[in-house]
Amino acid sequence: MSGVLCGECAKPSAHFDHEAFTVTYDGLSSEVTGLSGWRCESCGDIVFDPDSAERYAAAGDALILQARDRQARELKRIRTRLGLTQHSAAALTGGGHNAFSRYERGEVPPMPAVVNLFKLLDRHPDLLHELQAARPARRKPAHRPAASA
Ligand SMILES: [Zn+2]
Repeated sequence: MSGVLCGECAKPSAHFDHEAFTVTYDGLSSEVTGLSGWRCESCGDIVFDPDSAERYAAAGDALILQARDRQARELKRIRTRLGLTQHSAAALTGGGHNAFSRYERGEVPPMPAVVNLFKLLDRHPDLLHELQAARPARRKPAHRPAASA
């Protein structure tokens, strides 16, 4: 086959077969072999053949799940190290009382602010006491007798 033009620069593309590509995501990588498609001879842009595109995308999706799982385990490790329950960790970071349980099961990705806070607390666990001391204690509203006139 010939005559396929690059979608980026409209120069001719050449077909390739059985090549390996490395997919990366968040520091993780995975090699996908036996890929075929078209490579622009001018700018190098690549368009995979449909089945190769599917396999390449699937490898990327798998890495995303792997990264989410790694993050869930890391969050749990830090929370446990800090001596926090899931409930108290959620009270500290917001997101609802079940938030940590959901993060640690990988159901919901935590906000970057939560991840960043826990990374800092992992390196400086003494800061947890400062945070806990700064949080207002939960109190019932004080009962005030109605003012009498
Ligand atoms: Zn091109």
